[in-house]
Amino acid sequence: MIRVVVTGACGRMGREVLKTVWQAEDMVLVGAVDVRGEGQDVGPLWGASEVGVTLQGDLEKVLAETRPDVMVDFTTPDVVAENIKTALRRGVRPVVGTTGMSSRELEEIRALAEGLGLGCVIAPNFAIGAVLMMRFAAEAARYLPHVEIIELHHDQKLDAPSGTAIKTAEVVAAARGDFLQGLPTEVEKIPGARGGSFDGGIRIHSVRLPGLVAHQEVIFGGLGQTLSIRHDSISRESFMPGVLLAIRRVMHLEGVVYGLENLLFE
Ligand code: NAP
Repeated sequence: MIRVVVTGACGRMGREVLKTVWQAEDMVLVGAVDVRGEGQDVGPLWGASEVGVTLQGDLEKVLAETRPDVMVDFTTPDVVAENIKTALRRGVRPVVGTTGMSSRELEEIRALAEGLGLGCVIAPNFAIGAVLMMRFAAEAARYLPHVEIIELHHDQKLDAPSGTAIKTAEVVAAARGDFLQGLPTEVEKIPGARGGSFDGGIRIHSVRLPGLVAHQEVIFGGLGQTLSIRHDSISRESFMPGVLLAIRRVMHLEGVVYGLENLLFE
C-alpha cells in the first residue's frame, strides 16, 4: 500500500485527489494539508461522510507524524517549491501538479532529488489527452511551423500563461528548429493584444472565464490551410488517471521526471 499525503487538500484539484486516493485499492490516504479548515474531517470535501483523516496546517508536522511515501501537491505557485523541498528532505516522494514554478526553483529541486536519490514527478498537465495534444503539436510543427496557442481556464487560476501552454510552446519550438514567425512591423493598439511572445515569435493567448475548466487550442497556419489541435478537460476527473499513474511510478524513480509524457511514452 502506498501511503499518501495531499497538500492543497481544500482546493478544486486537492479535493478530487483526496477522493481518488481514498478510492484507490493500493493507496492509503494518511494526511491532508491546507491553510484552511484545520481539524476538519476531509470526507465531506468530496461529499462523503467522515473518513477519519483531518485537515492540518503544518506540512512538516504531518509528514513527521504520518510517514507517507508520497506527497501529492496541488497548491499555489508561491508555496509549491518549499513544499517539495520539505517532502524530499523527509524522504517523501513528491507528485506535483501545481504550475507556475520558476526554472531556478525547478533546478534546485532537481539537484535535491538527485542528491537524495528520491523520485519526484512534476507535470504541468496530468490529463492524458493534453499530453497527446502536445505530442501531436510537436509533430505538426515540423511541417506547419507558424503556430499560435490559445489556452482557456477558469477565472480563479493564478498564473498565466498555463504551464501546459508554456510546455507546448517549448516542444513546438524544439520541433521546428531555428524559425522566426510574425511581422516585425506590426503594432499593438492595445498592449498585450497579440498575447505573450515565446521563442521564435510563438504567441500565447490566455483566456480566463467562469465556466471553463482547462482547455487549449494550438492553431497552425500554412499556405491556404490551417490545422487546429484542441483538448478540453471538461471536469477535474480528467487529471486523475495521470495522478494515479504518477503516484505508482514515482515509487520506483530516482530524480525529477518533468512531464507526464516521460511516464507514458518511454
Ligand atoms: P485552488 O482551488 O486555489 O487550490 C489550491 C489550494 O491550496 C487552496 O485550498 C489553497 O488555500 C491551498 N494552499 C495555499 N497555500 C498552501 C500551503 N502552504 N499548504 C497547503 N495548501 C495551501 O487551485 P486548483 O484549481 O486546485 O489548482 C491548484 C494548482 O494546480 C494550480 O497551480 C493549477 O494551475 C494546478 N493545476 C494543475 C493541473 C495539472 O494537471 N497539473 C490541473 C489543474 C490545475 P487558499 O485558497 O486559502 O490559498
